[in-house]
Amino acid sequence: MLDEFDWPVTREQALAALRDFIDHRLELFGRYQDAMWTAQPFLYHARISAALNLKLLNPREVADAAVTAWREGRVGLASVEGFVRQIIGWREFIRGVYWLEMPGLAAANHFGHARDLPRWFWTGETHMACQREAVTQTLRHGYAHHIQRLMVTGLFGLLAEIDPRQVAHWYLAVYVDAVEWVELPNVAGMALYANGGRFTSKPYAASGAYIHRMSNYCAGCRYDPAKKTGDDACPLTTLYWNFLDRHEAELGGSPRTALMVKNLQRLSAEERAAVRVRSAELLGRLDGV
Ligand SMILES: Cc1cc2nc3c(=O)[nH]c(=O)nc-3n(C[C@H](O)[C@H](O)[C@H](O)COP(=O)(O)OP(=O)(O)OC[C@H]3O[C@@H](n4cnc5c(N)ncnc54)[C@H](O)[C@@H]3O)c2cc1C
Ligand code: SF4
Repeated sequence: MLDEFDWPVTREQALAALRDFIDHRLELFGRYQDAMWTAQPFLYHARISAALNLKLLNPREVADAAVTAWREGRVGLASVEGFVRQIIGWREFIRGVYWLEMPGLAAANHFGHARDLPRWFWTGETHMACQREAVTQTLRHGYAHHIQRLMVTGLFGLLAEIDPRQVAHWYLAVYVDAVEWVELPNVAGMALYANGGRFTSKPYAASGAYIHRMSNYCAGCRYDPAKKTGDDACPLTTLYWNFLDRHEAELGGSPRTALMVKNLQRLSAEERAAVRVRSAELLGRLDGV
C-alpha cells in the first residue's frame, strides 16, 4: 500500500504538486470538475487539499499561481475562475462558518436522523456502483473529489437518514485532507443539511438521475436510476422521493425546493404508497443494499 503513497509531505513536494496541476490539469478543471468516472479517482482535480491544510501551501500563492497561468495565456478564464472560487469562495468562506457555528454545528441534526452508518462504508461492499466506486477509492487513496463526497456518499447519508455524527466521523477518519474545520461545515452544513441551512439555501437532495447524468457509474450497476420502485429501482431514486414525501411541508414552503415538491405531488396516491413501502424495506436493511 505504501508503494502507492504519493501525497506531498514537504514544501518542495507540495510546490511540485501545485505546478503539476497548473501545467497539466487546470485547463480542463472547469469543464470536468463535477464529472465522475469509473477507475478515475482524480480526473482533473488539483490534489492539494492536504498540502493546504498542512500549511505546506498558502491559499494566496495557490490562487496567484492559477491567475498567473491565465495572464500568461496558458489556461482559459472559466477554469481559473472555477478553481479560484473553490479556494477563496469555499475554503476560506467555510473557515469562517466553522468558527461562527461551533460548537453547535457538531451536534446539529435538523431532520432528527438517527440511523447507523451501513458497514459497507468501511469495505465498499455494496451493490450500488456509485457508492462502491466512491468508497473503494476513498479507502484506497484517502481521496474523493467534492462531488463524490457531496453527491454520492453525502447524498446517501442524507437520504438514508444516517445520524450526522456518524457520517462526520467517517469523513474525518478516511480522507487524507480531513481536518474538522473544513470537514464539518461540508458534511453537516452542505451534505446533510444538519444545521437547517445556515449557509446553504436548500438540502442537496437528488435522485439517481443526477449521478447518471454526471458519471458512467450507472452503466455498471444492478439498479436502474430511472426507477422509483421495484427490486431493481435505484435506492437513491426511491429514497429521494421518500425524502420529499417525508418533508413535503418544509420543502414545499421554500422557493428553492417548491418545484421538487410540485413534481412529488404529480405522483398518484398508489405511486407514493409504493415509494413508502420500498423505502421502508430499504431503510430496514441498509447493510445489504
Ligand atoms: C462532504 C464533504 C467533506 C469534505 N471534507 C473535506 C475535508 O475534510 N478537508 C478538505 O480539505 N476538504 C474537504 N472537502 C472539500 C473538497 O471535497 C476537497 O477539498 C477536495 O476534494 C480536495 O481535492 P483537490 O485538492 O483535488 O480539490 P479540487 O477539486 O482540485 O479543488 C481545489 C481546492 O479547493 C478547495 N476546495 C474545493 N472544494 C471545497 C469545499 N467544498 N470546501 C473547502 N475547500 C474546498 C480545496 O482546498 C481544494 O484543494 C469536503 C467536501 C465535502 C462535500
Ligand atoms: S443506479 Fe443508482 S445506485 Fe446504481 S450507480 Fe446509478 S445512482 Fe448509483
